[in-house]
Amino acid sequence: MISGILLDLSGVLYVGDQPLEGTIDSLIRLKKTGIPIRYVTNTTRKPAAAIIRQLVNMGFSVNQEELFTAPMAAHSYLQSHRLSPYMLIHKNLREEFTDLACKPHNAVLIGDAEDDFTYRNMNSAFRLLIDGAPLIAMGKNRYFRESDGLSIDAGAFVEALEYSTGAKAIITGKPDQEFFMAAVDSMKTRPEETLMIGDDVDADVDGALNAGLQGILVQTGKYQQGDEERLINDTAITLTDFNTATEWIISHIADSNR
Ligand SMILES: [Mg+2]
Repeated sequence: MISGILLDLSGVLYVGDQPLEGTIDSLIRLKKTGIPIRYVTNTTRKPAAAIIRQLVNMGFSVNQEELFTAPMAAHSYLQSHRLSPYMLIHKNLREEFTDLACKPHNAVLIGDAEDDFTYRNMNSAFRLLIDGAPLIAMGKNRYFRESDGLSIDAGAFVEALEYSTGAKAIITGKPDQEFFMAAVDSMKTRPEETLMIGDDVDADVDGALNAGLQGILVQTGKYQQGDEERLINDTAITLTDFNTATEWIISHIADSNR
């Protein structure tokens, strides 16, 4: 039974600024089933409002309440723990954290800082961590797909700081169980009746299964041949793309109503 759907964004619905073929129509078909959908993303290069704008400009209809981002989860973690972090994050994301940026810093927040991953900035983070400040990472993804190829994500930089300091990052985005559960709870569904669709074996699919959800790995976006063999949980399903996943869901619903 499926009574809720979690959708990863980049690599599933679009790559760069281009919708993947057929995904706009498939999302419309999926919505017609009446099953609630939430969008869950570890993207840390832009704030939530910009993600919504980008989706709408591409032709997807998505509301702000349906979007769950790793930066939003990081913000609530930092706020509830009264942390004011040194921010090793993308310049476009700073606006989401301006209220927490006061000094002195007592934590490090890290995301995909892109060109701001300099020695100087890594070292500023290192010095806080070696003195015992907590490391809050919005994700630990290896790479993602951009329109011109695969690009390195924040994971390697998180590991570099962990390696140098002995700190263990607190991950606020996927595959954190609480992150999945916040989205599941908002749909008032049960985890075992919720299906996650993503292109990332670790953060999306294994993460969802570890949180007690169902999972579909799609072979678009960052998917590399043989990725399905890395899945730890063998109940995950691998399908070619979001369009096929939509067909699978629609026929699954028809079967369970029979
Ligand atoms: Mg993705």
